[in-house]
Order: sequence, then C-alpha cells, then structure tokens
Amino acid sequence: MSYTKQVMEQVIKRNSGEPEFHQAVLEVLDSLEPVFEKNPQYVNAGILERIVEPERQIIFRVPWVDDQGKVQVNRGFRVQFNSAIGPYKGGLRFHPSVNVGIIKFLGFEQIFKNSLTGLPIGGGKGGSDFDPKGKSDGEIMRFCQSFMTELSKHIGADTDVPAGDIGVGGREIGYLFGQYKKLRNMFEAGVITGKGLTYGGSLVRTQATGYGLVYFMEEAIKAKGKSFDGATVVISGSGNVAIYAAEKAQQLGSTVVALSDSSGYIYDKNGINLDTVKQIKEVERKRISEYVKIHPSAEFFNSCDGIWSIPCDIALPSATQNELDGEAAKKLVANGCYAVGEGANMPATPDAHKVFLENNVIFAPGKAANAGGVATSALEMSQNSMRLSWTFDEVDARLKDIMINIYHNASAAAKEYGFEGNLIVGSNIAGFIKVADTMLAHGI
Ligand code: NDP
Repeated sequence: MSYTKQVMEQVIKRNSGEPEFHQAVLEVLDSLEPVFEKNPQYVNAGILERIVEPERQIIFRVPWVDDQGKVQVNRGFRVQFNSAIGPYKGGLRFHPSVNVGIIKFLGFEQIFKNSLTGLPIGGGKGGSDFDPKGKSDGEIMRFCQSFMTELSKHIGADTDVPAGDIGVGGREIGYLFGQYKKLRNMFEAGVITGKGLTYGGSLVRTQATGYGLVYFMEEAIKAKGKSFDGATVVISGSGNVAIYAAEKAQQLGSTVVALSDSSGYIYDKNGINLDTVKQIKEVERKRISEYVKIHPSAEFFNSCDGIWSIPCDIALPSATQNELDGEAAKKLVANGCYAVGEGANMPATPDAHKVFLENNVIFAPGKAANAGGVATSALEMSQNSMRLSWTFDEVDARLKDIMINIYHNASAAAKEYGFEGNLIVGSNIAGFIKVADTMLAHGI
C-alpha cells in the first residue's frame, strides 16, 4: 500500500463519522503522491501524519437566552489546525449542519489556501450549530456574546484570528468584536477580520471573495483565449460570495442569469438585477424567491441542483459543500460550460471533478479560487498593525495581484509534476510545499 494510502487509512480510523473531513484529506493526499516520490525528506519527518492532525481542537457549550426568556444551548467549535507559517486564520460558520467534521474539513483546506495567498497565515476554522435564520437582532447579539465569552480565551491577534463564513457577516463580527473588547479591556483590532469600516475594517473585504474568484477565473480562461465579456454565468448561493462574484462578473460584461439560496433558484434570462438581490438578502434578510415578485419576467424554481441544468459558459458554485455532483457536472458539460470556479469550499464532489477533467473544462478548486477573502483579511490585519487604511483601489489592486499569482503558482506546480492544466493537483502541491518546508525547518 502506498504511503499516502496508509496515512489516509489512519485518518479514517481516527476520525470516524466525519465524511467531509475524509473527502478533503483524500483530495489533497491523492495530489501529493508525486511530491513524496521526489522529496523523501517529507516522509522521514512525518510531515503528512502531522499535517492531517489538528494542533488543537476546542469544543464548548454556548448557552444563551432567547426572546421568550428560555435558555438555549448550542455547541461551539474552534479547530486550530496548523500554525507553521503564521497565526491560525479562518472563518466562523453558524449553520445547523455544523459539526466537528465539517469544521475540520474547512480548517484543513484553509492550511493550503492560506499558504497559496503568499501571506503569513496558518490554518484554522470555527463555528457553531446555531441557526441565525429567523432570529431577532437581540438573539443574535446574545448568542455572539456567549460564543465569544469562551472563544476569547483561545484567540488573539498573534495567536488565532477568526473571520466570517456562512451565517457570519458584518453584524455578527460587530457583536463578536464588541464582546472581545469588553472581556480583554483593550482595542485589539487584529483579533478578528471582516470588521466594519468605522473600527478597523478594510475596504474591499466585503467584496473580496467574490471579486477574487472572478479575478482568478479571468486569468484562468484568458490562457484559453476566453473572457467574461459576453459570457453567460450561473452562480449558486446569494450570500456574500455569490453576490460579489456576480457584481464583478457583470462589471466585466457577463450576463449572470441565475442565483439561489437553500430554498431554490431564480432564473432571469435578461440578467439578474443585483440591487434587488442585495435589498432582499442583505437588507431584508428574506428568501431569494422574493425576486420574482419584483421582476415577474424571472422564474423561481424550488430546487437547488436544477440550477446546473441552465445553459452557461461559466459556472461559479458559491453556496456550500457538495452542491454540484457528477450528474450536475455532466449537464453543465452537455450545455457547453467551459469553466467552473469554486466560490464555496468543496462545492463540487469528486465525481464532478472527474467529469470536468475528462472533458477539459477549466476547473478551479476553492482553496485557490476563493482565497481572495482570506487574503484580504490578511491585508486587513496588516492595516491594523500599521494603524492606517488603504484606499479601495489600493486593496483591490493587491487582491487582483494575489489572485493572478495564485493561478500562475498552481498552474506551474501542476506542470512541474506532470499534471499540466490540473489546478486541483497544482493548488494542493503549491499550498503544501511551503507549509511542509516550514514544518521541516521548525522541527517536530
Ligand atoms: P453566506 O451565509 O453569506 O451565504 C451562503 C449562501 O449559500 C446563502 O445563499 C445560503 O442560502 C446558501 N446555502 C448555505 N447553506 C446551504 C445549503 N446547505 N444548501 C443550499 N444553499 C445553502 O455565506 P458565504 O457567501 O460567506 O459563504 C458561501 C460559501 O463560500 C461557503 O462554502 C463558505 O465556506 C465559502 N467561502 C466564504 C468566504 C467568505 O469570505 N465569506 C471565503 C471563502 C470561502 P440560505 O440563505 O437559504 O441559507
């Protein structure tokens, strides 16, 4: 049995009942086989055995009082996965599906993503099985305060720096930071990112993951002589990543014809009106189906995966993990889709990867294509350290540079190891080598 297969067996044995974590590790390990053949020093130092084991996992009780005066209890998580190249960094997800396996898959991916940005940040992730949907502002605040009361013991600007993810946006970051400030009696801006602009946030952070995804894809399709100008684009989700990916794609001359949420998708053949979507999702916090009341020529379908049967040139899955399977991938290919970029983390299943690779579809994995969010978080940390703020254009230009570099590094690594054009392998190898070399340098 090969070395990577032995390590994978151990991962499955030691982390039973965590299929998303197994899936994320398997994808990386499959890519690394040629790296170990060329670099036996990694095998001797047990880099792989170490990298699949989080440095620390914290699971805690989060009690809070709802609007009826009843005590509710949720479970909180923070997985501090790898600090070889910098403080742990990764978002917080509030969603009822959250469990330790999901946080570990996200934290594991984050190690390589953060390494790819070229910035000094380690990998971590956290969250809770709390469901923000339908909660009042007061309930959200009390939950965030209770969550931070425990989390504050484990984080710090040079230790571990959380940010947002599904269910955690500007409002939640504000409550979390406010509680941290009270508990510590100091204004430690660099302890969390995605902050509001009045208290240390960075311009472009809100847009960063979506814009970054489109910058990455622009570079990737340019290599095949294609562009966003005139392209038809389908994007799943209608949260932070999806909305700003749609905005940048539109700015580059594309027609974005579909968006979704967990209740279904909207199709507007004339092109989605993003002002309406922002009003519904960001301001009113309502369902995407509201869109068709304002734009009756658009249609709403109450299924999520049907979105991949809409003909398009470029697809950007930007909702959640495993939302695009092999069958959906076949439909995209049959309809002429030539590029797929993951805005979400691991939205395409292994079967879907196979279909895309076999059909020469340009496929950009999330750990490379959606790294713009965490990269801009790191730029927010830099501005906090310097106690100054860069302009929108300055941050945007840095973000674009970073995304273009990630594409070229991943592309070059794929070519060097004999997998030209395979950005999955290229991203995994390029992300891994920097962390592995640092772990070697640091000893065990
Ligand atoms: P948001 O909470 O802002 O939006 C999430 C969107 O996805 C919503 O439209 C939501 O619908 C939909 N969604 C969530 N869960 C499901 C589900 N189980 N089935 C169908 N639809 C679902 O999150 P973000 O936009 O921040 O995150 C989206 C993805 O991007 C996640 O995978 C996240 O990890 C990843 N990501 C985010 C980054 C960021 O900077 N925010 C950075 C890098 C990656 P509904 O409203 O109905 O729940």
